[in-house]
Amino acid sequence: KCVEVNYIEGANDKRWSSENFLWTKKLEVNNKKVFGNHSFRPNQREVINATMSGYDVFVLMPTGGGKSLTYQYIVDYIGMLRWFISLDAGFLVLPALICPGITLVISPLVSLIQDQIMHLLQANIPAAYLSANMEWTEQQEILRELSSDYFKYKLLYVTPEKVAKSDVLLRQLESLHARELLARIVIDEAHCVSQWGHDFRPDYQGLGILKQKFQNTPVLALTATATASVKEDVVQALVEFVTHCRHYRYSVIPKTKKCLDDIDKFLKENHFDECGIIYCLSRMDCEKVAEKLQECGHKAAFYHGTMDPAQRAFVQKQWSKDEINIICATVAFGMGINKPDVRFVIHHSLPKSIEGYHQECGRAGRDGQRASCVLYYSYSDYIRVKHMISQGAIEQSPLPSGYNRFNIANSGRILETNTENLLRMVSYCENDVDCRRLLQLIHFGEKFDSANCKKTCDNCLKIKSFIEKDVTDITKQLVELVKLTGQQFSSSHILEVYRGSLSQFVKKHRHETLCLHGAGKHLAKGEASRILRHLVTEDFLMEDVKKSDLYGSVSSVLKVNESKAKNLLFGGRTIILRFPSHVKPFKLGKSEATPAKGSLTSGKPSPPQIGTPVQPQPEVDLHM
Ligand code: ADP
Ligand code: MG
Ligand code: ZN
Repeated sequence: KCVEVNYIEGANDKRWSSENFLWTKKLEVNNKKVFGNHSFRPNQREVINATMSGYDVFVLMPTGGGKSLTYQYIVDYIGMLRWFISLDAGFLVLPALICPGITLVISPLVSLIQDQIMHLLQANIPAAYLSANMEWTEQQEILRELSSDYFKYKLLYVTPEKVAKSDVLLRQLESLHARELLARIVIDEAHCVSQWGHDFRPDYQGLGILKQKFQNTPVLALTATATASVKEDVVQALVEFVTHCRHYRYSVIPKTKKCLDDIDKFLKENHFDECGIIYCLSRMDCEKVAEKLQECGHKAAFYHGTMDPAQRAFVQKQWSKDEINIICATVAFGMGINKPDVRFVIHHSLPKSIEGYHQECGRAGRDGQRASCVLYYSYSDYIRVKHMISQGAIEQSPLPSGYNRFNIANSGRILETNTENLLRMVSYCENDVDCRRLLQLIHFGEKFDSANCKKTCDNCLKIKSFIEKDVTDITKQLVELVKLTGQQFSSSHILEVYRGSLSQFVKKHRHETLCLHGAGKHLAKGEASRILRHLVTEDFLMEDVKKSDLYGSVSSVLKVNESKAKNLLFGGRTIILRFPSHVKPFKLGKSEATPAKGSLTSGKPSPPQIGTPVQPQPEVDLHM
């Protein structure tokens, strides 16, 4: 599918299809006469109209789709437009030579450049290129030509290395820009800027300097191979002039009652007096967190949707000017923030989706210095967020325009999608094995070799190796247990019973007499809960959330999703999970380990044997 994305106005905006632009007629003539084409290919017209209108445009079109022509067609008209404006229009169209303006094209390979120049010269369009392996005198000549106001070139091709290394070139570009002769900046193969991409080139990262220096010059970024995260990087690096690669450290930390003390300590140890954002779930949380941090000696303030706009603007300004360091905010805070030195993004509660999380983290480290992305996670936050979503009580981040997310009319579907997104986020947090980067990218449908993480996420840092375990029997028992207890208890109660607790509450409900009581005795608490939560994130079990009292606290009971669970109980489905191998003491079926008192599905008592690596991998769950 061919997608043309205009960074500012959103994909497929009808207005760019119009044939009533000032340049439309001339454009079509040029397409035919100069290039010998009969019509435009899909989206060519839209790209041209948007860039000609002065917008920054990100173009994703397949190879051979005609991307190069979108900027080559128009070289004559840039000058023309200038004349229309400066001479009050109405004059005859002036020949290109009288009104020169040059398009700077950055392309990664000299061979590609040479090929393009050849085609351009054949079409009588004067073009030149500069590269490091050219004769110095030859380069000098081109640069000298460009210092004349009547230079002949319509396009100047350069390699990214040239931009990075040549001060002479930069000065020449500055001079062109000052003379209003720099028409536009084209970045071909723009995916090279992203480390998520397949073709990362460090020198592309430096191209952000162009937008920084020439802010009003339109950028046209072209690629045939951008995934969502690559696109985000391209836009941030080349359009929003974030000039360096990001150095993130991702981690997920269990959230306890001492969470605020933990945050305080983390900040004092790692980021004292540095700038950052703490994302909170509710308005009240924002205020609470800010207050606590102030008490601990941090310069913090809160920011959320119910403050009046002037107040919000004031806080944001204080933060931008470093008068305060920490902003405790709902996701309402974020769009259009371009502070380069944000050193940390902390999530005090579970984000609503991986996309949101990715985007919120993206506000840190834009200057290329190290930044921390820390997420405090507790399963009970999942229950809380789930409830808030169902009540529509959650603050939404302002959508970047151009994201057509959901059809508003179809709110049932929105709720479903939101719930799915949230579950994926839970799954991400519950996973303490796989590389965080890998897990994020899987969500965007991409691949990532976790070796490239270089231990910059918590999971890569702590784990030397992992082990795959067949947990099918355990999952079956847990589902059975939820049924046996009548689908009216919380997940923590189910875990207690499964692990053989003899607490008052267990006794009160006579759960110690159930055949599965203690069937999971040999499992560590964390392991058992991870498996149970996996059942929730995979939708075999569901959390049924209710408001439990007047003060707004919520409670939740586990229910069985019958249709899916059937597949697990009787469908011969295997579930394999990865566990860090250092967690080892997953006691192998030792004699003291209580065997399951009865496996309800097969009839024969079979203690779940975990701890042995599993060879066949019918369905390796990356826990996502
Ligand atoms: P891309 O850069 O997207 O891979 P190019 O711009 O190099 O693609 O174009 C690929 C080929 O398609 C070129 O040979 C070009 O001449 C041809 N082409 C581009 N636009 C048109 C068009 N509107 N009509 C016919 N041919 C076109
Ligand atoms: Mg191309
Ligand atoms: Zn990693």
